[in-house]
Amino acid sequence: MIDVRVPGDKSLTHRALILASLAEGESRLTGLLTGEDPQATRNALRTLGVPIGVLPEDGTELRVSGVGLQGLREPTQLIDCCNSGTTARLLLGVLSSQRLVAALTGDESLRRRPMRRVTEPLSRMGAQFRELGVRGCLPIEVRGSVLRPLEHVSTVSSAQVKGALLLAGLTGGVDVSVVEPVLSRDHTERLLRAMGVGIHSEHTDQGWQVRLSEPPSALPPLDFAVPADFSSAAFFLVLGLLLGGDASVRLVEVGLNPTRTGLLSVLSRMGATVEVDRESDDRCGEPVGTLIPHSGRLQGTEVTAAELPALIDEVPALVALAARAEGVTRITGASELRVKESDRIAALATNLRALGVSVEELPDGLEVEGTDRPLQGEVRSFDDHRIAMAFGVLASLPGNRVRIDDRAVADVSFPGFWRLLDGITSKHGNAGGRGSARSAGQPASGLNRKRGPIITIDGPAGSGKSTTARVVAQRLGFRHLDSGALYRALTCALLEAGIPPDRWPALDRADLDRFAIRLEPRAGNFAVLLGQSVLDAELRTSEVTEHVSQLSGLPAVRSWLLERQRAAGASGQLVAEGRDMGTVVFPDADLKVFLTASLEERARRRLEDRAVPRSGPAGLRDEMQRIEARDDRDRNRPLSPLRAPPGALVIDTTGLKFEEQVESIVRHVLDLTGC
Ligand code: C5P
Repeated sequence: MIDVRVPGDKSLTHRALILASLAEGESRLTGLLTGEDPQATRNALRTLGVPIGVLPEDGTELRVSGVGLQGLREPTQLIDCCNSGTTARLLLGVLSSQRLVAALTGDESLRRRPMRRVTEPLSRMGAQFRELGVRGCLPIEVRGSVLRPLEHVSTVSSAQVKGALLLAGLTGGVDVSVVEPVLSRDHTERLLRAMGVGIHSEHTDQGWQVRLSEPPSALPPLDFAVPADFSSAAFFLVLGLLLGGDASVRLVEVGLNPTRTGLLSVLSRMGATVEVDRESDDRCGEPVGTLIPHSGRLQGTEVTAAELPALIDEVPALVALAARAEGVTRITGASELRVKESDRIAALATNLRALGVSVEELPDGLEVEGTDRPLQGEVRSFDDHRIAMAFGVLASLPGNRVRIDDRAVADVSFPGFWRLLDGITSKHGNAGGRGSARSAGQPASGLNRKRGPIITIDGPAGSGKSTTARVVAQRLGFRHLDSGALYRALTCALLEAGIPPDRWPALDRADLDRFAIRLEPRAGNFAVLLGQSVLDAELRTSEVTEHVSQLSGLPAVRSWLLERQRAAGASGQLVAEGRDMGTVVFPDADLKVFLTASLEERARRRLEDRAVPRSGPAGLRDEMQRIEARDDRDRNRPLSPLRAPPGALVIDTTGLKFEEQVESIVRHVLDLTGC
């Protein structure tokens, strides 16, 4: 049996970061989730002037010096909530009462999600909002105001709405009462109570009422060990129930807040056995314990509206289980699922159909007929972490052959999900893991078993590495690392700081540390950050291109950037592109590719990339010279010179169709992973 501690609770991580920021004094937080959603909250709070350090990957302590209930600073830039609805909605509440103007936005999927359910009651408190794009959606500008008390009766049970209103009352110093049909997650209430705030909750004729009365003028700091996320544990609960034989996993330190564990009663109705061992002490009012799933026969069941708030995020995992249970599972009253990270009802139905599972899509739910036939086919993540993970579990079961288009999206809430899944299924004697299953019992191939696959693509300027690497990564559902962007970012930072190239050879580590350059994982790639800003177009200016290879020959620079690149590959599932990926950075990569093309062809591509209008033979000659000079420097430098790594798959792309070269690389990878 494997002990698994899944990452920290997402809801609690958001709330802990926000409340610690609003407290006075230093809060101590451990076990925080480091996924993309909490990063969005952390970055937003930093933009609002809270000095929060990096979220520790290993769950160790983060200290946060709070700025007080009214201490946030007006941001100088748009606040990007990325894919995180919780970040956006809770911050709309917090910002309503601050003496500042701020604008919140998000990625394409978040910009489609409804915000009026929060801004409408907040407006009744006196908050001012301006919708800058589509009606009712982000981007939205908030102008902080003096707030009035609020009595709100909500037609939906939503922890984000309730949390936003309570946080507005807290920071605005006014009473708030929220009534919801069924009690939604009560993390905000529990943490506030642990911080000494007067919060009362009771069942009334209208539903559950939560009341914040006489909010304090200051919050004390928070000392909180965030429990493991029940919603992440749910995928391994389902896996444990579906893998035959003895209990395969024990999920430890899992948050067992009763507003979150509705799945356990549904599982028990389905005939599942899950041992629950509750710890004696709560953490800031949050119960914690160990869960052990035992495999056995499972039957379909009926799940209705009243149960949903306590298992809303677990529906994808539950549907995966339903696909393998006997008979029909019917879920209704779940229309809320249509406005999650994806339309989860449609996404689940589409994917199940693609695998040959009989499913009916209802307006507010699904009817799934379980099957024990092997599941085969291609499914999509729909940019939704929980959809990718639910089908990852099905893909990892012996006999199934399921491919998922984009697995990197799991990082939103569960960094390391695929590695863990692979670890458990391979220990259990099934080599099928990784979401792109190989049939059971096949040899493990030459893959590095400690992490997911790493593919390197090196080559000279204009060889087509970037586009190839990006598309190959997309096809495999891996992340794309553009290492050249790191060298460019540092060049850009130095030029911006007015440090001339002739002083670069004298730079040491301490000097480089002053430039806060880092990679931040996103779905499908890494953003390059300088301080708080994401660098993009500024990396490709002709000034940067002209100077970058002067910088990349310097030993201090290379070793400083090496750590950042290796960290990006820690969990594998990576297509890394550059000059020394296969030789120096990832010498143990699973597949090394070296792309070349004639000088003329490469120069032509570069000109096309930059959309330089027909520059004629002279323009082409100039570009050939520039490229040759840069390649010469890269090839002849003593450190990490540009060359094909031993054993690389060398592809001359002159005259080759782009699709052909992508296909040939993807095929090699799939051969390696045994698909
Ligand atoms: O790939 P790109 O053209 O963006 O790279 C810019 C420069 O960064 C290269 O010319 C090279 O000098 C340097 N580089 C490097 N090692 C890498 C990636 C880029 O030296 N792995």
